[in-house]
Amino acid sequence: MRRDDFPQLSDTVYGKPLVYLDNAATTQRPRAMVEAMTRAYYHCNANIHRGVHHLSQQATVNHEAARKRVANYLGALSEKEIIFTKGTTDSLNMLAFSFGEAMVNEGDEIIVSRLEHHSNIVPWQMLCQRKRATLKVLPLDASLTIDTTALNSLITERTRLVSVAMVSNVLGTIQPVEQVIRIAHNRNIPVCIDGAQAAPHLPVNVRELDCDFFVCSAHKMYGPTGMGILYGKEEWLDRLPPAQGGGEMIEHVRFERTTYNVLPYKFEAGTPDFIGSCAFAAALDYIDNLGRDAVYAYEDELTCYMEQQLAAIPEVHIYAAGAQKAGAVSFNVYQGERLIHPFDIGTLLDRQGVAVRTGHHCAEPLIDYLGVPGTVRASIALYNDHSDVDRLCEALRRAIAMLS
Ligand code: PLP
Repeated sequence: MRRDDFPQLSDTVYGKPLVYLDNAATTQRPRAMVEAMTRAYYHCNANIHRGVHHLSQQATVNHEAARKRVANYLGALSEKEIIFTKGTTDSLNMLAFSFGEAMVNEGDEIIVSRLEHHSNIVPWQMLCQRKRATLKVLPLDASLTIDTTALNSLITERTRLVSVAMVSNVLGTIQPVEQVIRIAHNRNIPVCIDGAQAAPHLPVNVRELDCDFFVCSAHKMYGPTGMGILYGKEEWLDRLPPAQGGGEMIEHVRFERTTYNVLPYKFEAGTPDFIGSCAFAAALDYIDNLGRDAVYAYEDELTCYMEQQLAAIPEVHIYAAGAQKAGAVSFNVYQGERLIHPFDIGTLLDRQGVAVRTGHHCAEPLIDYLGVPGTVRASIALYNDHSDVDRLCEALRRAIAMLS
C-alpha cells in the first residue's frame, strides 16, 4: 500500500534500504499529514478561541473541525467527548487524576491487567498511593490473554474502575475487551480502554464498544507527535473535575471562586495544539481514503504472514503463537536452551537495515511474567509488505548463523 507517500521509507541505513518494523513504537508519516501541518503553520497560524480577528477565527474553525473529525473516526456521539491531549500517557494521567479526585477514596480499588503498558499502570498506582486505594491485577490465561473469568471475582463493591489495553503492545494480541466491558458494566463499573495499539489497526468504534473512556496517540496513527485523545462519555466527563487549571478551561475566574468551561474545554487548560489537531485530522483522512476495512484486511494478512515466516525459523519462539494479533509479533531466539539476548538480535538486524524494537516494551510486569529479559518485537503498518517480512527473516537467519 502506498509506500511512496512516506519519504522516510526510501532512506538507507548502513547503506541498506530501510525495513521499518518498529511501527508499534511510532509510525512513519505520510506527506499529506506533514503538508497539512506545514499549511497550518504557514497559512493558518493564530491562537484560537479568544481572537476576534479573521486568522484566529479560521484557526479555531480548523481546530474544531479536527475535533469533529476525530469524534467521527472513533464513533463518538459528540465532539464534546473528544479531549485533545499530548498522547496516551497524558490522557491516562489526566483521567487517573480527574477520576481519582472525584470517584476514588481510601479502600477503593482500581483493576488493570498483567499485560498493561506502564502508562496504564503507573498513573493508577500513583492515584492509589495518593488515595490509599488498592491496585488489583487481572491475570492472564494460558494463551496470555486477559482472563475474563477472573474479572467477576476480582470486582468487589469497592471497585471503581477497570482499565485494560485493547491490543497488547508486547504481544500484539487482541484482547477480549468487549467481555471485560460487559462484565464490568453488569456490576456498574466504568471501563477505560487503552487503545494506543488498537486505534492504528482495528476499526474502533467507541459507541459500539460502549467503553466509558478510550485513549490513543496520534503518532502511532500516522499523525503528529505530542498529540493524543482522551475520549469519555459525556455523562462521565460532566461529572469529573478538570485535571489542570489555567486559561481556556475556565468560565469565570474570581479570587474567591472559579467556574469552569463547558466540555470539552474544561479539560483543555492552556493553548491547545491547534496545528497538531489539523495534522491529525489529515492523517485520519489519509487512512480513510485508503479505507479502514481495506487497511485492516491488508494488515491482518501481513501480520499472519509475518508470524508464519518467523515460526518457520527453528530457533524462534513466538509469544502467544496462533492468537489473533493486530500488527505485532513478539519473539525470542534460542540456540538450544540458550536465549540469545534480544538486544543482540536487534543490533544484528539493525546492521542489516531492519528496524525492530527489543527490550521490555514499557511492560515490565508482563516481561517478568514471561521470565525473559525482553523480547524482539516486529510490528507492521499499512506501508509494509511481504518483502519487508522476507528481509526480516533473511536478516534474522543471518544473525542466528553469526551467533552460532
Ligand atoms: N499504551 C500502550 C498500549 C502503548 O503501546 C503505548 C506506547 O507504546 C502507550 C500506552 C503510551 O503511548 P505514548 O507514549 O504515545 O503516550
